[in-house]
Amino acid sequence: MTEHYDLLILGGGSGGIATANRAAAHGARCALIEKGPLGGACVNVGCVPKKLFWNAAHMHQCAQTARDYGFAPLLGDFDWAAHKRARDTYIARLNSRYHAGLADNGVTVIAGHGRFVDPRTIEVDGGRYQADHIVVATGSRPLVPEVPGAAWGLTSDDFFALAARPRKVAVVGAGYIAVELASLLRALGSEVSLVMRGVHLLATFDPMLREGLTDALTTAGINLLPQRHVAGIDKADDTLSLRYKDGETLCGLDTVLWAVGRIPNTDALGLDKAGITPADNGIIATDPFQNTAVPGLYAIGDLTGRAALTPVAIAAGRRLADRLFGGQPDRRLDYDLIPTVVFSHPPIGSVGLTEPEARDRHGPDAVKVYRTRFAPMTQAFSKEPHRTAMKLVTVGREERVVGLHIIGEAADEMLQGFAVAIKMGATKKDLDDTLAIHPTSAEELVTMR
Ligand code: NDP
Repeated sequence: MTEHYDLLILGGGSGGIATANRAAAHGARCALIEKGPLGGACVNVGCVPKKLFWNAAHMHQCAQTARDYGFAPLLGDFDWAAHKRARDTYIARLNSRYHAGLADNGVTVIAGHGRFVDPRTIEVDGGRYQADHIVVATGSRPLVPEVPGAAWGLTSDDFFALAARPRKVAVVGAGYIAVELASLLRALGSEVSLVMRGVHLLATFDPMLREGLTDALTTAGINLLPQRHVAGIDKADDTLSLRYKDGETLCGLDTVLWAVGRIPNTDALGLDKAGITPADNGIIATDPFQNTAVPGLYAIGDLTGRAALTPVAIAAGRRLADRLFGGQPDRRLDYDLIPTVVFSHPPIGSVGLTEPEARDRHGPDAVKVYRTRFAPMTQAFSKEPHRTAMKLVTVGREERVVGLHIIGEAADEMLQGFAVAIKMGATKKDLDDTLAIHPTSAEELVTMR
């Protein structure tokens, strides 16, 4: 017998869960299909465990600053295994909370791998489920390059399962995951090399952020290796070596981490049976309303190839549910001005256009940029203070703020409120007219000259 629902969601990550809960709140009869633990990559092998690690690394740095304030040495060694136990318990609690939330909202959770039989039917372990509307929200997984010995390397998924701290690590990549893992590993005591194929890390970010982070990582003792093209991994006894295309090697490693991007989980869903043809890179094309080319089928999250960020998937899913079941026919996510934070050490916060993007889009004469660089007050007693840098990118005579970029202590917590102002169309004058809160780092954003 085939069970029928108003909405079926394939994938129980943050986006899928948010869509299901919102649709159920509108009265839709929903089922969510997930083969793994609820919460997807973000909760189980992404944002959440990463942030817990980031917190640990941050505490280590605070303990160092505390000495300058007169405290005796505060911390002993980092107990990786104890941290992992606490982390696993916390994540298991989140998994159950998701189950409870879905149950409270009347959403059916179907455990197993779902596969399309036709555009309205999905099969899971022999059971068949039909719906008027189906959302594909199966996310993405880490990419592993096709080079000899690649399997000796770990992905970010494997990283969170590590039982002990790696001693000597090469992180391959230069994006979000590479700089986040490299930073936290270094702060927690590993010897770290960051192996980049290009010249810059965080290639798509504002140059001020790239340069600031390059300096900070170098100062932290991370071995930055630009323009290295990895040809493979060799293993002898228990030691790994990275081999580059020019024949050079990086030897004596116990861990290699691949952080070279992610690919959509769209290859084992029977999408051909649904009439959906993903692009060669696995991405499912959607219009601004998350519609695929097939009526009644929608896609949200990483697999749509747009800003692969948890809050984006959640927001797109909730708006889709509002549109389908909440009587809001025009509701959709505006993908402009998405704020983002890189949890490196120091953290980075960024929203809107980079300076070069603004100059390209609006013309060089229309863009005015404000910058500041300072040592935050927590660093008052430090001989080598960590610095914070900020940049406002404005456009036109009214100096509308189209970009804001921060690197430094608390950048992660500073950005959200300013992102609201920028989304509302704030101008430089609006920031100037806002009274500063003193003494803070954030006040610099309303006092720039
Ligand atoms: P990114 O797209 O951020 O970066 C991929 C990196 O891999 C780039 O630096 C790229 O180099 C490099 N690369 C690609 N192929 C190769 C190769 N063959 N050899 C060496 N380097 C290579 O991907 P991530 O995996 O870091 O993260 C995936 C996405 O997840 C992010 O884009 C982000 O949307 C999301 N994310 C968000 C986080 C957050 O919000 N804090 C945290 C983690 C992930 P090049 O620059 O030269 O192209």
